Amino acid sequence: MCVFCQIVRGELPSNKVLENDEFLAFHDISPKAPIHILIIPKQHIENFQSCPADLMGRMTPFIQEVAKLLELDQTGYRLITNNGKDGGQEIMHLHFHMLGGAKLTWPYQAIKEEAQKNI
Ligand code: AMP
Repeated sequence: MCVFCQIVRGELPSNKVLENDEFLAFHDISPKAPIHILIIPKQHIENFQSCPADLMGRMTPFIQEVAKLLELDQTGYRLITNNGKDGGQEIMHLHFHMLGGAKLTWPYQAIKEEAQKNI
């Protein structure tokens, strides 16, 4: 069973921020910003590419609620979902990274020549 399913089932600990019947938000174990939250559906969905539109529709207000709770709605934040191998997805359970608490730079680059070849 995947790590995030184990967290949902309470078999692994997590530092929870917000939860409802369908979604869970908790602190990333290895934060990449002063605030780094992971937001997941409790249902096992592999990634964004296989996410049903209606689930995403319900997840959007949950994500916005997490931002409000942490007052990131005022200061801003970055929302990222890594999708598949080239996207750098390591845990194959849909999750959004919410990063904030500081002015973020933009470190997410492909190899420079690759990134620029379509400009
Ligand atoms: P990704 O590379 O997009 O699949 O991101 C996976 C994220 O999950 C990484 O930022 C990890 O630090 C985080 N992570 C892995 N295991 C745990 C855990 N047990 N609790 C909280 N975050 C975790």
